[in-house]
Amino acid sequence: MESSETVKKLSEEFQKLPGIGRKTAERLVFALLKSKNGMATTLAKALLDLVEKVKLCTVCGGITETEPCAICSSDKRDKTLVCVVEQPLDIAVLERTGKYQGAYHVLGGTLSPLDGVGPESLRIEQLIKRVKEGKILEVIVATNPTMDGEATALYLSRVLRPLGCRISRIARGVPVGSDLEYVDEITLTKSLEGRREM
Ligand SMILES: [Zn+2]
Repeated sequence: MESSETVKKLSEEFQKLPGIGRKTAERLVFALLKSKNGMATTLAKALLDLVEKVKLCTVCGGITETEPCAICSSDKRDKTLVCVVEQPLDIAVLERTGKYQGAYHVLGGTLSPLDGVGPESLRIEQLIKRVKEGKILEVIVATNPTMDGEATALYLSRVLRPLGCRISRIARGVPVGSDLEYVDEITLTKSLEGRREM
C-alpha cells in the first residue's frame, strides 16, 4: 500500500478520524480503489457537500443546512424550555426519543481547566444571552454525567440562577461516566422526565 503517495495520503487522512487505525484506513482505501460503481466519487462529493452545505445553527449550535435550524424555526417547539447539551450529535440522540418538545443549546464541550477549556471556549455567553432575552422559563442541563459534565452543570447553575429561570439537571438514569450518545431512548426519556431542580 506504500507504493503510491496518493494512497498513503488518503490512508493518513482516514487515520485522523475517531476509531480508525492504520489497518482499517488501508482497508478503506483499498475498498475505494476496488469499487467499480463510482463509490470514491460519490464519497468525495458527499464530503464536499458536508463542507459547503452543513453548518452550525447560530441560535442553538446544532447541525443544520438552514439558518436558523428546523428546530429553532419551528413554531411547534416550546421555546420556553431549553435543553443544554455538550455536542450537536446529542440533539439527534434526544430527538430520537420523540418526547422532548423544547429547544436546545449546544455548548461545544465541557469545562475542563486541565485541558485549558474555560467558559469562554464554550457557547456559555450565548446561552446567558438567550436566557436574558427573556422567554426561557427553564434550562435543562443535559451534559454527560462525567466529572467535567457535572462541573459544567454546576457552573451553569451558578451563572444562570441570578437570571431568574428554573434550572434542572437530567436524572441519574444515565449511568455515571457515560456518554448520552450510548444511552438508550427509554432511559433518556425517563431521565428527562425525572429531572430535578438544581
Ligand atoms: Zn437551532
